[in-house]
Amino acid sequence: MSQEWNIRSRGHVCTLCGRPLVDKAPVTSALKETDSGYERFDCHPECWKTAKLDWQPFSLWDGVYFAPVKEEKKEPVKKEDAGELLRKLVTLDDPAMKNVVYVLAVLLERSKILVERDAKALDDGTVKRVYEDRKNGDTFVILDPRLRLENLSEVQTQVVELLSGTKTLGEVASSPLPGNDEADASASGDENVVGDGEHVVG
Ligand SMILES: [Zn+2]
Repeated sequence: MSQEWNIRSRGHVCTLCGRPLVDKAPVTSALKETDSGYERFDCHPECWKTAKLDWQPFSLWDGVYFAPVKEEKKEPVKKEDAGELLRKLVTLDDPAMKNVVYVLAVLLERSKILVERDAKALDDGTVKRVYEDRKNGDTFVILDPRLRLENLSEVQTQVVELLSGTKTLGEVASSPLPGNDEADASASGDENVVGDGEHVVG
């Protein structure tokens, strides 16, 4: 987590105390020279003043923090489009898309479009789940690839990319997830996989 946090070039939380920066309030920013470049600090002015630093900023300035404008990213997935995409993918039956298909199905289940009716464990540790369209009763037999949690966000991103049209099916199919090949899937235990919709799609 901390690594991910460090990658951000513009902070939305105070680098020193970790609390959110306040919209339209003063912010103290600094660049610290490191071996690999510059590390950026964006801090509450009071945090900066009271911090005991053992380094000299390469650059230091006072500014005003503006919270990012809320885009319509709250619900990047339109339910109708997701249902359409699922139908398309189920029809295609491309093994390379199994993760995307599953995440899409879970998403639709969470959106109350689909309901899970049955689940059948297979010998290889995967599960086939039967989803039913609440409205028209269509059923989908979806392979639950027992996705690892660490791959989940990547698959969700792929789903969003497909739905928003930034990526084509071909592009997504040709970018398989690392560490999620067949050998890996069969070797993985239960603790690190997503078993049902409960942990998916916040
Ligand atoms: Zn602070």
